[in-house]
Amino acid sequence: MTTELLSNHLGGRWQAGTGTGTALFDPVLGTELVRVDATGLDLKAGFAFARQQGGAALRALTYRQRGELLAAAAKVLQANRDAYYEISTANSGTVKSDSGVDVDGAIYTLGTYAKLAASLPDGHFLPDGEAQSLAKDGSFATRHVQVPVGGLALFINAFNFPAWGLWEKAAPALLSGVPVVIKPATATAWLTQRMVKDVVDAGVLPAGALSVVCGSSAGLLDALEPLDVLSFTGSADTAALLRAHPAVTRHSVRVNIEADSVNSALLMPDAAPGTEAFDLFVKELAREMTQKSGQKCTAIRRAFVPASAYAAAAEAVGQRLARTVVGNPRNESVRMGSLVNRAQFDTVREGLAQLKTVAQVLHDGAAAPLVDADPAVACCIGPTLLGLPTPDAVAATALVHEVEVFGPVATLLPYADLHQAMGQVARGQGSLVASLYGADAAALGRTALALAPLHGRVHVISPACATTHTGHGNVMPQSLHGGPGRAGGGEELGGARALNFYHRRAAIQGAPDVLASL
Ligand code: NAP
Repeated sequence: MTTELLSNHLGGRWQAGTGTGTALFDPVLGTELVRVDATGLDLKAGFAFARQQGGAALRALTYRQRGELLAAAAKVLQANRDAYYEISTANSGTVKSDSGVDVDGAIYTLGTYAKLAASLPDGHFLPDGEAQSLAKDGSFATRHVQVPVGGLALFINAFNFPAWGLWEKAAPALLSGVPVVIKPATATAWLTQRMVKDVVDAGVLPAGALSVVCGSSAGLLDALEPLDVLSFTGSADTAALLRAHPAVTRHSVRVNIEADSVNSALLMPDAAPGTEAFDLFVKELAREMTQKSGQKCTAIRRAFVPASAYAAAAEAVGQRLARTVVGNPRNESVRMGSLVNRAQFDTVREGLAQLKTVAQVLHDGAAAPLVDADPAVACCIGPTLLGLPTPDAVAATALVHEVEVFGPVATLLPYADLHQAMGQVARGQGSLVASLYGADAAALGRTALALAPLHGRVHVISPACATTHTGHGNVMPQSLHGGPGRAGGGEELGGARALNFYHRRAAIQGAPDVLASL
């Protein structure tokens, strides 16, 4: 039986590719679900339509009016939420709570930006500071403004967040008045396409404001023009290719990159086994390893503990992981579903094998049988905790600081003292997030500031926020997402800060009455 070929939305209309398409699969059952194809699309014409029609219509609205569009889009998504959960189960192999991280995270982020619009001016630009006189008699001055970029925003996204990955970028772009073209990762493009389809078909956005191209990325960057922006989430290797593209090198297309990251968790020296902070660390590490089968760019990959706490931590985390039932997400007893596809399954196995050449296996989840899933077909893999036995081994081993295994895998790393631990954390060469666990507020604050230059976010967990913190790997729209160096050097979210990427700062010089009239 031939599966449905999903349409692309470009140039204000739905268009099917002219090729046979690339199939998307259920990673647990192995069945083909739908196909995607972008062959034959006139990308240049489609991009021009987005800029001219979508961009002009969005920019004619004020920030507050655009906030109302976001609220209307969030309502459409909310009404179709059940369908998104079904697609997630089928195409991403995720259990319900993991589908929620993506789907509900998307709707929450969109809703947050809809509300944020109320705090913005009811106008067409964002003021940037006060006017400053440039003439002795005050008759000539300069005033800075932030105006929406004149082009479109192209998003090239990763497979692990087909819902959230779209809306965490589209919400600030549309609120800024910038039309969006999204190219989802092929493996999970279905959910992104469906969400765009629901919002477009509901007619809540102007024509050209939101487009989707599913399938090959060929030609997308060639269709970019100097006033466009490009936001990429994915591997460091693809990011390097994009940075070298003439659109970026010749046209100065502004680029934001969210790439891979070997994130850390750090148990502070005061958090001995038996303390509340120790228990919080254990719980968070096990959760980070298993949520979305470890396929989160923010997941903990390296977990640092005082050498004296290493054995107790290994045992406590292992006990939690042993309770993780892995298999078919449709079975109620299953807590962790599958990896996204066979290619990722193979890549995770390869990465694990690589790390095992230097690290010991402290907990081997791969040994447990799968529930309701055929191991020959399902891309499921149990959680594995690795470890290096001594601080000297941690210092002498490069692989654990360099290899990101994008699955339910983390490595426990003992340290001699806090100074030595910080040096090892830094070997991640810039990460999205680090988390700290302890009870000494002053020491936590000092350590957070010291780690800040290396991370986009430092997540500090102490008993005071034991039940209220939002989670190491959970990206909140109010907080910055991104990280320096290896993590791509990008910045997303952070409340109104996200709008900066979709605006250009300009200085307007003139007589005071002209500047006052803006
Ligand atoms: P990927 O292979 O780099 O793919 C990412 C996106 O780029 C996909 O849409 C892909 O399309 C597209 N692409 C591939 N080659 C391209 C090219 N030559 N030109 C233009 N686009 C191209 O990454 P992935 O394996 O999907 O994602 C996993 C990685 O993403 C992990 O390393 C993870 O750490 C990182 N990640 C980072 C964040 C973050 O926020 N920092 C979030 C999630 C994931 P196709 O799918 O059609 O190939």
